[in-house]
Amino acid sequence: ISSDQPTIVIDAHGLPYLDEDLPIRKRVDDLLGRMTLAEKIGQMTQAERGALDAQDDIASWALGSLLSGGGSVPNPNTPAAWADMVDGFQLRARQTPLQIPLLYGVDAVHGHNNVVGATIFPHNVGLGATRDPSLVKAIGRATAKETRATGATWTFAPCLCVSRDERWGRAYEAFGESPSLVESMGTIVDGLQGNDLSKPTSVLATAKHWVGDGGTTYGSSTTGSYTTDQGITEVTTKDLWRLHIAPYLDALDRGVGTVMPSYSSVDLLDDPAGPVKMHAHRALITDVLKKKLRFDGFVISDWQGIDQIPGDYASDVVTAVNAGIDMVMVPHEYQRFSELLLAGVTSGQVSEARIDDAARRILRQKFRLGLFEKPFVDRTYLSSVGSASHRALARSAVAESQTLLKNASRTLPLKKSGSIYVAGSNADDIGNQSGGWTISWQGSSGATTPGTSILAGIRSVAPSAAVTYSRDASAPLEGHDVGVVVVGETPYAEGIGDIGNGRADLSLSAADRAAIDKVCAAMTCVVVVVSGRPMLVTDQLPQIDALVAAWLPGTEGAGVADTLFGNVAYTGRLPVTWPKTMAQLPINVGDKVYDPLFPYGFGLRTHVRR
Ligand code: BGC
Repeated sequence: ISSDQPTIVIDAHGLPYLDEDLPIRKRVDDLLGRMTLAEKIGQMTQAERGALDAQDDIASWALGSLLSGGGSVPNPNTPAAWADMVDGFQLRARQTPLQIPLLYGVDAVHGHNNVVGATIFPHNVGLGATRDPSLVKAIGRATAKETRATGATWTFAPCLCVSRDERWGRAYEAFGESPSLVESMGTIVDGLQGNDLSKPTSVLATAKHWVGDGGTTYGSSTTGSYTTDQGITEVTTKDLWRLHIAPYLDALDRGVGTVMPSYSSVDLLDDPAGPVKMHAHRALITDVLKKKLRFDGFVISDWQGIDQIPGDYASDVVTAVNAGIDMVMVPHEYQRFSELLLAGVTSGQVSEARIDDAARRILRQKFRLGLFEKPFVDRTYLSSVGSASHRALARSAVAESQTLLKNASRTLPLKKSGSIYVAGSNADDIGNQSGGWTISWQGSSGATTPGTSILAGIRSVAPSAAVTYSRDASAPLEGHDVGVVVVGETPYAEGIGDIGNGRADLSLSAADRAAIDKVCAAMTCVVVVVSGRPMLVTDQLPQIDALVAAWLPGTEGAGVADTLFGNVAYTGRLPVTWPKTMAQLPINVGDKVYDPLFPYGFGLRTHVRR
């Protein structure tokens, strides 16, 4: 902490809530008894760091939490700058009479993905393909270490969505389309939170988006809306439990500290109520999640999620808090939010008991995180950000996630010698292979952060092969032993899937199709698809000798090469059904007419090449 640190008014003054030997329940009770209504409301308020009008607002409004929304980063965007930034905010929080520390939240959804140089792990869809809960736990541990080292104590992950429509723009944030597969990956909660949240290697996790986010109906007839993201999930109560609530049960058993409601609405087909915004859904948040499932953590709204509740903002605030939301990711007009909630309590629309319950739940997690004892960043693990051991873990996760869909005449594994022609839009692009939620919210193409592209991975795994790289396959094609064409998507996050924006179509780009045609006509060819969801390859499949789904591998492209060359065997299995045509969508395991190109769970195996 810098020497210009202001004098701390009170500290270790013997108040019971500061006594770490007391049980957390007693500490919370003691602290709550000393808090004003405004201070309790402050705990319930989360602002975006970039929206702070002044750093002193942290103390003036007694803010409970700040976040970095996707791509909201310090300048320079280095691990140490993050730690300095969070400490600066924490210093302001310590200037309040009760010195209640801040929670700092980020979307570390595939590694600490806002930070340049952090290890970027495969997105969840690739982790689902591994079917390896212990690997996923280890990734949670590594992510937690990198995240907390920079001062963030909380990640808005994991997404426990069950993706029921490949066109949904968040499909890659799902571990898969089957509730039992998603549930099995709940081990990531253990990884993130560790066995002791107060350790400098643990972060608070968030199960999101409660509930039914992956099941919204395409082009809902009820609303005339043509979006799958933030749409309406139309299901029976039984199916809501079977498909969407099921994955949460395990995460709740593992003690996940927070839950985030979904932007979407739920329309229970056996209930006349009609569609209800999840941020206003008292029955599902309070009655089911908190009472029936005994969730003792706190509910954090999504970004401006309460704003979408019908009515003006004043009624949104009252409705959301009464529905059971404990902390609101406001994230801009935090003053207005606090004033409206205060007014809601003063007028009797929100009970003081509800405010106490919310503040109690939030404070409990802050005590569990050990923040009252150690509010400032422990920089011991700063060097773990992007460390060799974390990159090695990511590389092996990439290899385990590779899913082999076709392998005619045992094309794979490839020999590490001879001549290899590499082409395609995603062969040499760290940004594309990392996808959305990487450095910026939407992610972007290009060398956005240090890593190994798939091309560089091929070169390092097969150093004695003669590699020709031509993105558009314009370099001469003759005389190569094999071609590897790496095609697929460019990054995106949320929102995609709307009819009309062109991204709801799972076809490959014209350039990628042309590269496949050229290379596969000239030589034995392997096509590697880098994407967050299945892409349509049906008409080109006959000319493709080997087809690999690489998902969104992240920064460690060498893992893709490890399987191509047989350092590691292919063991990945489809976490989602691979359709033949757009007309089949949505196509899910269990659908009555189920005639996909490759079924859910499909994946060929190879042997390690010696
Ligand atoms: C997303 C959440 C995310 C939040 C904070 C929202 O747009 O829906 O998943 O946690 O932003 O960045």
